[in-house]
Order: sequence, then C-alpha cells, then structure tokens
Amino acid sequence: MEIVVLLGAPGSGKGTVASRLVERLAARHVASGDLLRAAIRDGSTAGRAADAYMRRGELVPDRMVGDVVVEQLAAHAASGARLLLLDGFPRAVAQAELLASELPRLGSFVRKAVLLDVDPNVLVARLSGRRVCRTCAASFHLAHHPPRQAGRCDACGGELEQRPDDQPDTIRRRLSVYQEQTAPLIAWYAGHDLLTTVSGEGGMADVAERVAGAIEA
Ligand code: AMP
Repeated sequence: MEIVVLLGAPGSGKGTVASRLVERLAARHVASGDLLRAAIRDGSTAGRAADAYMRRGELVPDRMVGDVVVEQLAAHAASGARLLLLDGFPRAVAQAELLASELPRLGSFVRKAVLLDVDPNVLVARLSGRRVCRTCAASFHLAHHPPRQAGRCDACGGELEQRPDDQPDTIRRRLSVYQEQTAPLIAWYAGHDLLTTVSGEGGMADVAERVAGAIEA
C-alpha cells in the first residue's frame, strides 16, 4: 500500500481535498482527527484522554494517536488498499519516524508528502467559518461552501456543528502548535526527497486538482 501524507496547517484543506480525491484516485482516506473524535464519541479510555488535549488545541501524545492510526493503516493494508491519503498524521517528527518504522511490516511505504501552503490569515477565516456534520463529518463553510439548508448536512441530512476547537483562542493555539511542532516535518520530508508543495489557496476544486496533479506526477 502506498501512502500519500497530506501536510499543512489546520484549515489548509487537507480533509476536504482528501474527501474529493478518494473516488478519483481509488484511494482510502485516514484522518487522525476523525479517528480521535470517533474515540471520544465512543467514550473509550483513549478518547477521554485525547479529549482534554484536543479542547486545548494541543497535540495528543504520539503513542496514543500513533496506536490508533497504525491500527487503521494495518486494517486498510490487510483489506488490499493500494493507495491511502493520510491526513493529520504525522504532526511531529517523532510521529514521522514512528510511521516510517511501522510501515515495512504492513508492506507499505510513504510515496510522497504533499504540503498545502496557505497564508495564516486565510487559515483563520476558514477555521472560524467551518461547520461539520455530527453524523458523517462532512465539512462546510458558512461563506465559501454553505449547506443547501442552514444547519443541515447536504450529504446525510445530519446536524451541522462548530467543532469546539474551532473557537478563536483554540484556533490561535493550534496554529502556534503547528508552527512549533508540525512545520519541522516540512524539512524532514524534504530531506527524504518526498516533499511536493502546492498552493492551498483558492477554491477547493482547484486545490484538489493541484494535489491530484502532484500525486500523479
Ligand atoms: P484535526 O481534525 O486534524 O484538525 O485534529 C484535531 C485535533 O486532534 C488536533 O488539534 C490534535 O489535538 C488532535 N490530533 C489530530 N491528529 C493528531 C496527531 N497526529 N498528533 C497529535 N494530535 C493530533
């Protein structure tokens, strides 16, 4: 199984782009944030521990998120997946090293890391207007991608909500955590000759097109 790591700050569009490309690339999509939110909803021990970090906009400890993600990757590899878009993991150099050490036993490797480059002011606007479906996790934006019916998901009719970590103070904290802990991954993947950077600005259809081009190149 080949893995494409999607890198970029919160709000850079990783999840939206991945959802748009799943069908076109016949790829699977694993989002670490979605896995952690599902663990919180299930009320598992890992979920309860993760919740406190997420509410503060901080990173969940590497081991905890690493276990959840590697378990999912193993399941996808075992079910014959050929390409997987990994969104939100790794988020620190130690996680990239963990991933690199776990993949060989799954018969997998990272083919590319695609960085979505977005101006910080655009990130704040995207995150503060974001609304997410409680049921299927589809993502909308009040200004740029409003649902057809206010407060309702176009895909499944579920209720839309604002993520607790999309509040202004937490957004600021997440962006500074990104700069401190996740941005060093850019140099790490460049050093492994795996990095491609694309602009993450503009409409999501255009961004998805750029990412598809980078993956297919
Ligand atoms: P996301 O949905 O990717 O924006 O992630 C939401 C939150 O989940 C982050 O702010 C972190 O608290 C946590 N999280 C997601 N992925 C990771 C990761 N790879 N490492 C640590 N924490 C993570």
